[in-house]
Amino acid sequence: MSWYNKARQKDWRVRLSVWWTCIFTLFLVLMCGCYKPEMRIPEREAFIPPPKPFKPQIPKIAAELERLDTRYWKYIVIHHSASNADNAASMDKYHREVRGWENGLGYHFVIGNGSNSGDGQIEIGCRWLHQINGAHAGNDEYNQYGIGICLVGNFEDDNPTEVQLRSLIELVHYLQQRCNIPFENIIMHRHVKHTACPGKNFPYYELLAHLAQ
Ligand SMILES: [Zn+2]
Repeated sequence: MSWYNKARQKDWRVRLSVWWTCIFTLFLVLMCGCYKPEMRIPEREAFIPPPKPFKPQIPKIAAELERLDTRYWKYIVIHHSASNADNAASMDKYHREVRGWENGLGYHFVIGNGSNSGDGQIEIGCRWLHQINGAHAGNDEYNQYGIGICLVGNFEDDNPTEVQLRSLIELVHYLQQRCNIPFENIIMHRHVKHTACPGKNFPYYELLAHLAQ
């Protein structure tokens, strides 16, 4: 092969490799242009709706609370119902029929857990409406001067719902202002009687921290 033919052949190979490089580069550019990141659409089951905004409970019962003249109260005593599902009516029936208490429901207020009444719903007991002694503390001083609030639930096993706690904070704060009850007199039932009430999971110090704000 003459030097001329060899040079032409080499020149042809160089051109071919340049062509291939151009085609490959063009291919890469086109591929990049076509690329779209994968859209991740959450599955329906995995979608968690944001929590519902808390609706204050006191305004709903304010008219009923405000038309009462309150007598002297010194303490607020917190209880749990030690049951999973209850409300003021079911506990009133139990206290009348099983315990034989003619004034019925031993507590002044009941806060529901969403089972037999609304989650966080505050029910006013007859003893508060008539401003009479409670039957909740197992102790004369605290029955006579203690406002009994019962949260539905068994807090030895479960926890109060977040909404229940927010209603409790609201109610205790209201009663403190209304009846001039000092901070140190907000107590749990087990402070005055040998009982587990309101259960080992009741967040007493969390409640006090909120009330102190
Ligand atoms: Zn109790």
